[in-house]
Amino acid sequence: METKNIVENIRKKFPALAQQMNGQPLIYLDNAATSQKPLEVLELLDKMNAKVNANVHRAMYQLSDEATGLYEGARERVRQFINAPDRENIIYTSGTTASINLVAASFCQKYLMKGDVIVITADSHHSNIVPWQLAAERIGAEIRILPIDGRGALRIDMLDKMLDSKVKIVAATHISNVLGIVNPVDKIVQIAHNHNIPVLIDGAQGIVHVHVDVQKMDCDFYAFSAHKIYGATGVGILYGKSRYLNEMPPYMGGGDMVGTVTYQKTSYAPLPLKFEAGTPNFIGASALKPALDFAASVREGEVGEAVKASEQEIIKYMLNALPNEIGEVEVYGLPEGKVSSQASDDTGDKIPLFSFNIKGCNAGDVAQLLDKMGIAVRTGLMCAEPLLNSLGVTSVIRASFAPYNTLDEAKKFIECVKRAKKMLM
Ligand code: PLP
Repeated sequence: METKNIVENIRKKFPALAQQMNGQPLIYLDNAATSQKPLEVLELLDKMNAKVNANVHRAMYQLSDEATGLYEGARERVRQFINAPDRENIIYTSGTTASINLVAASFCQKYLMKGDVIVITADSHHSNIVPWQLAAERIGAEIRILPIDGRGALRIDMLDKMLDSKVKIVAATHISNVLGIVNPVDKIVQIAHNHNIPVLIDGAQGIVHVHVDVQKMDCDFYAFSAHKIYGATGVGILYGKSRYLNEMPPYMGGGDMVGTVTYQKTSYAPLPLKFEAGTPNFIGASALKPALDFAASVREGEVGEAVKASEQEIIKYMLNALPNEIGEVEVYGLPEGKVSSQASDDTGDKIPLFSFNIKGCNAGDVAQLLDKMGIAVRTGLMCAEPLLNSLGVTSVIRASFAPYNTLDEAKKFIECVKRAKKMLM
């Protein structure tokens, strides 16, 4: 089948894409913020809300068993998807943010002392900055930043020297939500492990675009959100190595995470429940199974090849069209080997995510005009204010593509940005 037809078939699974916005067919290019959901996910959410709605792990009746089966089945799907050794390594949370907060609070409480250091990467989302700042403030620790170079790549060459005996953890972004560059996380892990320092990877964007094998990567923690990978909102995953998860204190206390409780003292449930206090979003979590099945289906076989080819085409087109067709555009995050926004055919380590500004145009104004033309993009600080500061800007326009987006949509996007620029100049 032709690439175009394969992508069209994928689109049919997403009812949200068939909508009109402001009288125009919706072109949804805010996938890095949240992806749309395929039918299989929507159907499971509907089915569970309508019928299989019973609290998990707690009851001796069939409906609860069914809900628990779906919930634990999804955990097993996550385990397979990232090749974790065991279900105990897969902790359900409410999102990447919650996963990183859990590690920042619990790991730092266990392993850090006053004067210790946490290393984070300069391309971090606020979710990989603020939790570490909170922990550092509580403990009296310091934060060190691994910088980026001119094109937006991490200065991996500087990492080794930054890792002295005071550094207790490295928290690195897999793919920045602003720059769209795949960071060499395997290398980061290797360098940190040479110093016996564990590594957390913020995989909010990475899990969507890269095949993640946590055992191969050897990261100590990997955090991601379900809603960015075709799943439900309010669900996230923390992968952690058993040796740390077993030693770390619980992050939240409550039902389901306990062994025995007296008024004086509590023993904790074994992993993974030790970190899962209270009634979880069991319906949303269960939908991770069809969500990850879908994610796998667009990576494998003929469909996978077609999606890859389509994404490569879109990346090449966008990296050429942004500077050449629109003009006076600065693109943030360039593929390997590129140092300016000039056109190039290399896609390198770039994913189909494009943050840019047009000289003389306010990013918010451009986005509002695009919305009138049916195009959904994100503008603003992208929850990465320190990174935008280092890029010397206060706002960017970001267009982020998913496997269901087409080259025709990319072309329409460029046409519409051109129109918006004319209106604003
Ligand atoms: N990290 C990165 C790189 C992100 O892109 C995002 C969301 O955009 C997050 C963390 C936070 O994810 P969530 O809001 O789902 O917790």
